[in-house]
Amino acid sequence: MEKADTPLQQVQANIAQACKIARRDPGEVTLVAVSKTHPADAIQPLLIEGQRHFGENRVQEAQAKWPVLREEYPAVQLHLIGQLQSNKAEDAVALFDAIHSLDRPSLVKALGKAMDKTGRRVPCFVQVDVGEEEQKGGCPIAELPALLDQAREADIPVAGLMCIPPFEIEPTPFFALLDKLARDHGLEGRSMGMSGDYETAVKLGATHVRVGTALFGKRG
Ligand SMILES: *Cc1c(COP(=O)(O)O)cnc(C)c1O
Repeated sequence: MEKADTPLQQVQANIAQACKIARRDPGEVTLVAVSKTHPADAIQPLLIEGQRHFGENRVQEAQAKWPVLREEYPAVQLHLIGQLQSNKAEDAVALFDAIHSLDRPSLVKALGKAMDKTGRRVPCFVQVDVGEEEQKGGCPIAELPALLDQAREADIPVAGLMCIPPFEIEPTPFFALLDKLARDHGLEGRSMGMSGDYETAVKLGATHVRVGTALFGKRG
């Protein structure tokens, strides 16, 4: 009997299938395994399988978990996917390899300052409030051009755009909108798609999908 696929293999196969349908190269899509709330024991099997991109939503939790794991797996790339308080900007710049939640002028200022101070220029995705839901954070679409200008002035490398569409409604129009905004601004990266909709996101141009539950199971 053949061995059953692991969750990682299943997600990778689904991404490959979505790429095939969309005639995209799977090499364009980075799977970010969202390990928030999961302890090191749960992360180890994915590291052993070869997964190297991980997402966390809290700076403190990531500081507690990752330095030890990274000693063993120095190629790990850490993505901050959760809202960031300006007073944690320096810690975030020191620890993370990408920040997906740049969403306001005060954070541009704080991150620019932290990057100047540490000499680490961490690629950032500007989070866009595509669903007009303030509680999720994200820059209003009307303010995106100004925020991108401010980020460039602060010498923050802008990797692309990120969105979290409203839950429980069809995400397709929101992914299409993020893709269009990225194109309009000449940006490569599109961080979109979670466990429930990453295949759709890939078909609509995602370069980074942030998948937690489908890899780790439900969070406690
Ligand atoms: C938790 C989280 C995810 C992963 O969600 P799943 O549904 O578990 O895949 C993706 N993006 C962000 C911003 C998150 O906070």
